[in-house]
Amino acid sequence: MTSSSDVPARLAAVRETMYTEFAREHEDPWIVAYSGGKDSTLLLHLVWEVAAAASPGESRRPIYIVSNDTLVESPLVIRHLRQSLEVIREAARAAGLPITVKMTEPCIDQTFWVNVIGRGYIPPTRNFRWCTDRMKIAPTNDLIRKLVIAHQRAVLLVGTRKSESQTRGRAMTQRGVTATTMNPHSTIPDCRMFAPLADLGDDDVWKILMQRRPPWGGTHRDLITLYRNAGGGECPLVLSKEDAPSCGTTSPRFGCWTCTVVQKDRSMRGLIDAGHEDEDMLEALADFREWLIALREDNRNRLPVRRDGRTKLRDDGTRVFGPFTLEVRQTILDRLRALEEQIGEMLVQSAEIEVIDDIWRRDRICEKGRLSFLASVGVDPEHMSA
Ligand code: SF4
Repeated sequence: MTSSSDVPARLAAVRETMYTEFAREHEDPWIVAYSGGKDSTLLLHLVWEVAAAASPGESRRPIYIVSNDTLVESPLVIRHLRQSLEVIREAARAAGLPITVKMTEPCIDQTFWVNVIGRGYIPPTRNFRWCTDRMKIAPTNDLIRKLVIAHQRAVLLVGTRKSESQTRGRAMTQRGVTATTMNPHSTIPDCRMFAPLADLGDDDVWKILMQRRPPWGGTHRDLITLYRNAGGGECPLVLSKEDAPSCGTTSPRFGCWTCTVVQKDRSMRGLIDAGHEDEDMLEALADFREWLIALREDNRNRLPVRRDGRTKLRDDGTRVFGPFTLEVRQTILDRLRALEEQIGEMLVQSAEIEVIDDIWRRDRICEKGRLSFLASVGVDPEHMSA
């Protein structure tokens, strides 16, 4: 049990560890994983202070701030993230700090809409969570790999804390993660991980943020208000499969607005219930997300065969259905376009539409071939969907 009066001492210990690491003689860059949530904001706040305090001649190692946009982020969260990154970029330039801001996105062939509307993947479920790897882990790790290649080695700083959840605490302990040690990255050689906030509690983080102004200017007020209204946590920058359980869980957190891994999006509903100024837009997005869940649950919307043409039966003999039919994919696109009009926000990019059109063209050719084959062997495709 930690006491609130110990917060200054705990903060001083974190700072001390970070100063010591920053002052080491090697020139490995620091890569800061920044989601715009409270933990990574505090992490960046401390990194900035450490870098700003380094005297000339002391280590001027490059610092990269790395964020990810899945392209289906909650509009409020992505707005906050992009605005804060812009302020940080400008302030770092003005202060002469060696800070570079990088934003990653999923490869255009692997976005949420290309997979759902293009390939007909059902919106993700707990057992078929195809999204995290494609939309978060792969793009971020790709960039980290490139930075490691450019600099030979790097240190990745993350805002993860043992008290975030029991699962997180257990995983960190099993991997031997402490606030003062460097750990190897699970998939990127020559990249070491550093989690200096590991021992801080939730309250510590809030207290520290509330009592301080960000060194890049402004206040942490927008962040605090966003959290207070949503009553939630955050969907963090997910860097590895071990981190992934915290993305799309039932705890209230900001994730993709389309996240169908959870039945109820508590952060979005929290903002609506709190009477947020963008309540109408949030309500429309929440309704669309719930409609996607309903579509997924109705087997009549799905093909009887999987994308690779194979059929699959469960142990009890019931069929495992495949992707959405082309008609349903078209319906989703039409309704998404209507939603864009309604809320005045772009939700799907034109490059995604091009990839979707391309996939549909190929799928139509395959579907024609499948139907003519079934006809040639006397099978009525209608019976396959039973
Ligand atoms: S928030 Fe949900 S949809 Fe987005 S990557 Fe995480 S699990 Fe997938």
